Amino acid sequence: MKFRQSIWEDVLYHQKYDLIVVGAGLTGQSAALFFKKENPDAKVLVVDRGVFPIGASTRNAGFACIGTIGEHLSDLEIDSEEQLKKRIKDRYEGLILLRETIGDDAMDYNHTGGWELYIDPDKYKIAEENISRFNYWMEELIGEQNIYEPVVYNGITSIYNRCEGMLHPGKAIKKLYELNRALGVEFRWNTPIKEIDPNEGKIIVDELLYFSADKIVVATNAFTSKLLKDYVIKPGRGYVFVTNELNHLNWKGTFHYDKGYVYFRNLGDKRVLLGGGRNIDPNAEETDEFGINEDIKGFLLYFAEEVLELPEGWKVEYEWSGIMGFTESKSAILEKVSDHCIVAAGLSGMGVALGMQLGKKAAKAV
Ligand SMILES: Cc1cc2nc3c(=O)[nH]c(=O)nc-3n(C[C@H](O)[C@H](O)[C@H](O)COP(=O)(O)OP(=O)(O)OC[C@H]3O[C@@H](n4cnc5c(N)ncnc54)[C@H](O)[C@@H]3O)c2cc1C
Repeated sequence: MKFRQSIWEDVLYHQKYDLIVVGAGLTGQSAALFFKKENPDAKVLVVDRGVFPIGASTRNAGFACIGTIGEHLSDLEIDSEEQLKKRIKDRYEGLILLRETIGDDAMDYNHTGGWELYIDPDKYKIAEENISRFNYWMEELIGEQNIYEPVVYNGITSIYNRCEGMLHPGKAIKKLYELNRALGVEFRWNTPIKEIDPNEGKIIVDELLYFSADKIVVATNAFTSKLLKDYVIKPGRGYVFVTNELNHLNWKGTFHYDKGYVYFRNLGDKRVLLGGGRNIDPNAEETDEFGINEDIKGFLLYFAEEVLELPEGWKVEYEWSGIMGFTESKSAILEKVSDHCIVAAGLSGMGVALGMQLGKKAAKAV
């Protein structure tokens, strides 16, 4: 016997959908959008455990980037050349898709270019020697010449990448939500899914409440292994802070340091956003709990003081953490779990560029 629900509520609770997406981040909402565009009559539902998405899509740094030479060289230690080339191309094309779908104005997109800074001359020498190699790759992948170029920024040796820019992640997600709502996609917030039955096509909230669908897309990124135990996606916490308004700001654009582990950008004309440093304490940061690691924060404060030389009186005015999901090779997973279920997750810290494209591919695979 069921005690909680009335017989009338059965039609509300146990509806059958054509597609249910679990996770309302960039990947999940994009899967819903592209599926609904192709299938206007389909009944589509997106569920998320939060009042807003609470993972990475609204907590990232807003870098629209395809990767630095330092990051590529480091990735080649764990992945094949072929896979890395594919990922760079996916990131490039993913950014074009994101900009076309959301629109630059709607998400404050600014095509600033990106700089990778080198303080250690030996490391710079290795990167510089690889500029022509990666420029050749880029020509092969996207048909454009001289993407990477050696420059000096504020007296620091750097490699400039003219393909990159910055955006407002909150505005991007807000617009994506509006596009979905306009097409009639349903959303159910505050709905943590406890279990998925991929064979029956059911997502289970608790013993009385479940939703079923012909197809389910699991787009829960760092939290996927909790629902689908066979998929190993390791959580990685990321930390970001934003300064107060500064009298003058010498850094305009997106900047990376140390294989992309440290990153910063201007936020408007007066503030700096600085984040990363996960490699300072990698074991502690392999967590899906939000929170701030004081050692990492201390390192980033030191970096802001010593490398960025922020003007006197600067301080942290906002800070937060978000959770990324890493696969072993750093390539995202798009796989069929059963006839009713697909997993699209593991964006490994590159989801601004890859999330929408992965969601679109998931919608196609459905
Ligand atoms: C601090 C930080 C900085 C970053 N900076 C950048 C950057 O500058 N550029 C870049 O390209 N990438 C960046 N990233 C990575 C990027 O944000 C992610 O790769 C991308 O947002 C992943 O999107 P997603 O939709 O796959 O996952 P998420 O945005 O994490 O969405 C997953 C959703 O699933 C929901 N969920 C989880 N479990 C359940 C459950 N059981 N039931 C219901 N819902 C559930 C969560 O609430 C969440 O909303 C950064 C990430 C962090 C954390």
